[in-house]
Parts: sequence; C-alpha cells; structure tokens
Amino acid sequence: MTSSNERIVENSALDQEWADRLAPTRRGLIGKAGIATGGAVLGAGAGAAFAAEPASAPLGDPGFRPIVPPRDTGRSPWGYDTANEPTLRPDSIRPEGGSGIPDRPRPYTDIYSYHAHIYFDEDTYEKAAQLRRWVAERFPVELGNWNLAPRGPHVTPSFYFGFTNDLLPVVVPWLQLNSLGLTILLHPNSDDPRADHLHYTLWVNRSQPVNGYAIPARGAPNAPTIEKILPNITPTVPLET
Ligand code: ZN
Repeated sequence: MTSSNERIVENSALDQEWADRLAPTRRGLIGKAGIATGGAVLGAGAGAAFAAEPASAPLGDPGFRPIVPPRDTGRSPWGYDTANEPTLRPDSIRPEGGSGIPDRPRPYTDIYSYHAHIYFDEDTYEKAAQLRRWVAERFPVELGNWNLAPRGPHVTPSFYFGFTNDLLPVVVPWLQLNSLGLTILLHPNSDDPRADHLHYTLWVNRSQPVNGYAIPARGAPNAPTIEKILPNITPTVPLET
C-alpha cells in the first residue's frame, strides 16, 4: 500500500506538471476523472490530490465573468415607432434609374478616358510609392498628388493617375501583374460621374467602399463636367514586354 501510494505521489507530480501546461478545460477534466497523461491510470485518491478547482465550478470554467457598463438611462432620440416605418426604395445609382434593364446597351464610345485610383494605408504606402514610381517611369499619364486622407468619394488615402483610352489594353494587364496586392479602382469617365464611380467600375484585387452618392446624377444642374486627361508624365523607361 505504501509503495503504491509513493508511486501515486510521483505520478501525481508528473501529471500536475503536464496538467499545468494544458488548457484549463483539459486540466479540469484530468482532475475530475483521475486520468493521467502518459498512459498511466491513477486511483481516485490521487485524482483528488490535484483536483484544485472547487467541485462546484462548471467543467472548464476558469472563473471568467464579463464586466459590462451600467445601462444608459433616458429616452431614445429615434422615438419608439421606428419598427413601424414603411419600407422605402433608395434612389437608383444606375444611369437607367429605376426602370430596370435598359432597352439597349450604352455605346462604349461614351467613355472619354479612365482613372486609376490606388488605395493604401500606413502599412502599404511603400508599395504604393513603388507602384507610383513604376507608373511614372513607363506611362504617359496624368499623375495626381498623394492624398493622405479621404478625398472626394475615396474613403482611404490614395493617389490617382488618369489615362487615355488607347492605353487601356496595356494598363489593365500591367496593373493586374504589378498591383503589389493593393486595392485599385479603375473607373471610366463618361458623362455620368456618379455611375462612373459606383456602377461602371473595374477593380484590381478586392474592392472597397466608394462614397459617391453625393456626386450629382447625369443631367443634374450641378453635375460635374467630364474630366479631361492632360498627361503630365514623360516616360523614361521602356515598358517591359
Ligand atoms: Zn477618378
């Protein structure tokens, strides 16, 4: 009996060491079931020896209790009838409006030029700088400033370059292969700037929100004019082929 107890004590210490390395859930299981790691099976007495958690604690309960702030008091500024509001349809951002599928396609010749907007953040700005250098070395584009904050409909830092339609079959595949993983918006410039930004878009990699709802619709009195592309970059490096 004595030798048996000694062996049990040795096993308990070893098992305790292993149990301490395990998750609380697993430790609780070992303590209650008297199961030893390493294949040995302990008696009930040894199991109780390292069952340190109180018997009333739920299995695996580490004692966590969420702390929540006290409830706010007062009346909701939204009132108490919002659940009864009727369902309303938002205005369409599509050029065809709410009339559904248009009767005929728009001529592709409605597109005058393109913009590429390259988005970045504090972790990816060096990639953006590399891409910007590569573009400026190779393409006769109109390169804009660094925007370090949201600007216009663009909700993150960005820079832009504009290009004429003849560059499209080169710029799109080039950006696909050289995006460096950045999110890039390609939008046409037609006579409908709102749809250009929200509905006629191409994206390289994942898309992100574009806050273009405030852009006046086509034909509205304050609608912006079609943006001109006036290249300000002279390429210095032959395009790799
Ligand atoms: Zn643009």
